[in-house]
Amino acid sequence: MQRDEVKRKVKLAVVAVAGRPIRCEVCDEVMVKAIPIIWKGDVKLIGAETGLVSVDFASMNRLVFRHVEVAACPARRP
Ligand SMILES: [Zn+2]
Repeated sequence: MQRDEVKRKVKLAVVAVAGRPIRCEVCDEVMVKAIPIIWKGDVKLIGAETGLVSVDFASMNRLVFRHVEVAACPARRP
């Protein structure tokens, strides 16, 4: 097994155990599990690299997440 493959599997295992569910603000569906980390002025969501998620500020200290694609969000489907 290659080193990158081992790192990827370890990361997936850690996110599966310690990750927090990121829910859509509109439909409340879990879009992805991730571990939020603040690093050098960025907020990184470890484990959310493949999710199509948009983020906005709901207030000065609260972020809200939504499905990017309308077709993926049950509450916004036509
Ligand atoms: Zn949604």
